[in-house]
Amino acid sequence: MIIAIDGPAASGKGTLARRLAAHFGVPHLDTGVLYRAVGLSVLRQGGDPADADAAVATANHITPNDLSDPVLRSDDAAQAASVVAAIPAVRQALQDFQRDFAHQPSGAVMDGRDIGTVIAPDADAKIFVTASVEVRARRRWSELQHADYAPTLDEVLDDMRRRDARDSGRTVSPLRPADDALILDTDDLDPDEVFARALAHVEKTAKP
Ligand code: C5P
Repeated sequence: MIIAIDGPAASGKGTLARRLAAHFGVPHLDTGVLYRAVGLSVLRQGGDPADADAAVATANHITPNDLSDPVLRSDDAAQAASVVAAIPAVRQALQDFQRDFAHQPSGAVMDGRDIGTVIAPDADAKIFVTASVEVRARRRWSELQHADYAPTLDEVLDDMRRRDARDSGRTVSPLRPADDALILDTDDLDPDEVFARALAHVEKTAKP
């Protein structure tokens, strides 16, 4: 069973993916971390994430050890991720790993931007989790209140708008729901309601 979960930043897709994976006892992959690892690694080499040659060379050498650094959660890593993610050859370099993960015998839950459309169009259940940019920015801002550097709500909103524009506007694998995805708008839903609706959809469309 493959469950594909897509959506913009801070929509709640990661929380939902982890809960579904725990519920069904299948492995979970947060695919954003792959792009973050490439973006962060290019920054650390002193490079420019928009430099396709540097980004592709890095993407070809990403290993599982590169995926657990806490700095991957930073905003710099997120912005760099969305720049490298617009380079077709970077997406290509990360594709086999993601497709292999999706098609392992145990099944998988994966979250990202193009899981239901490109990585696993054959997924048994597809869910697109979204929310207004204001609600998503407020969620991210509250999470950051205990960080060493806490940005203002306006800064978070600006960053999120820039990232949304890059992710939705790129020509290769833009962020969009698959035609057969359940759309869950989480503006007025708490995580338990999101999980209940997603679970009902998976039980209807997939055969766990
Ligand atoms: O999900 P997360 O916010 O960690 O993703 C970071 C960035 O990686 C996104 O803004 C997007 O540009 C890119 N990404 C992508 N395709 C995916 C997952 C993430 O383009 N499947």
